[in-house]
Amino acid sequence: MYIGRFAPSPTGPLHAGSLVAALASWLDARAHGGRWLVRIEDVDTPRCPPGTDRLVLEQLARCGLVPDEAPVWQSARSERYAAALQRLADGGHAYPCGCSRKDIAALAPPHQRHGELIYPGTCRDGLHGKPARAWRLRTDDTPLAWTDRRLGPQSQRIESEVGDFVLKRADGLWAYQLAVVVDDAEQGITDVVRGEDLADNTPRQILLQRLLGADELPRYLHTPLVLAADGQKLSKQNGAAALDLEAPVEALREAAGHLGLRLQASSLAELLAEGVAAWPFMMPPSATERPST
Ligand code: GLU
Repeated sequence: MYIGRFAPSPTGPLHAGSLVAALASWLDARAHGGRWLVRIEDVDTPRCPPGTDRLVLEQLARCGLVPDEAPVWQSARSERYAAALQRLADGGHAYPCGCSRKDIAALAPPHQRHGELIYPGTCRDGLHGKPARAWRLRTDDTPLAWTDRRLGPQSQRIESEVGDFVLKRADGLWAYQLAVVVDDAEQGITDVVRGEDLADNTPRQILLQRLLGADELPRYLHTPLVLAADGQKLSKQNGAAALDLEAPVEALREAAGHLGLRLQASSLAELLAEGVAAWPFMMPPSATERPST
C-alpha cells in the first residue's frame, strides 16, 4: 500500500514552485494506486499568516488535488513532538543546549552549510552552567547512505556536514526535522515526494526515524526545482507570484512541464489523468519493498 503526502508550510499561498511539489506527490500517489494526504506544516506559527492554510487548501482543490483524508495541522500536534523528544532524551540521543548564536559563532568550524553554522558540540557533555535554550540531536560522523528514486545513491556525514541539529528551538517552537519525522511515521507515509532543495534533510530524517524505532523508512523522490529568472530557487522570498486560481489548467500544465511532462488536455480531469498515465517516475514492482532501518 502506497501512502504519499504533500506537506506545505503555509507561509504564503502556493506558487509555481510549490505547485510542482504538490502535483508530483499527487501524480506519484495516483500512478502507484496509492492514497494522497495533505499535512499543513505550520509549526513555525509566527511565519504563517492566519488564513493562508485555508487558501493553500483551496488552491489545491481548484487544481483538482483533493486529499483522501482530512488534512492534519502540525500546530495541533505538539504533544506528539514532545513525546518523541522525551524518548530521544531518555535514550541519550537528545540533549539541551544553552548556546546563543554568538557562542556558536565563536567555536563553529569555518565551513558552513547553506550559510548556516555547524554546531560545534559545545553542550554535548553538559550545559556548563548555562540555562537550557534549545534541544539538539547528538549525531555521529558515520556516512549515512540512502537512495533517492531520481537522484540515485546519496551519502552524508551528518556530524561534520550538518552538526548536532535542533529538535526544539530556543523560542520553544518545534523544529521541522522532528515534526516531519513524527508525522510521516504516524501517518504511515511510504513515499516522500518533494522538491530537491529538501534532499539534504533526508539523512537527518532517516537518522531520527531510526532512533525513534521505525521498522521501515519511506522511499524518497526529490523533484527538479523550479528556478526563478535569476537562477535562484523560485520561492515566496524572491517574489514568486501566487497561482492564478482562475486558470488552474494552465498552472498545472506549466507545473507538469517542470516534471518533464508535456500535457495536452484542456480540462482539469483529463490533464491530471494524462499526467498519471505519462508519469516518468514509475517504480518497478521489484522496488516496492520499503528500505528497512
Ligand atoms: N513543509 C516543508 C516545506 O514546505 C516541506 C516538508 C517536506 O515535504 O518534507 O518546505
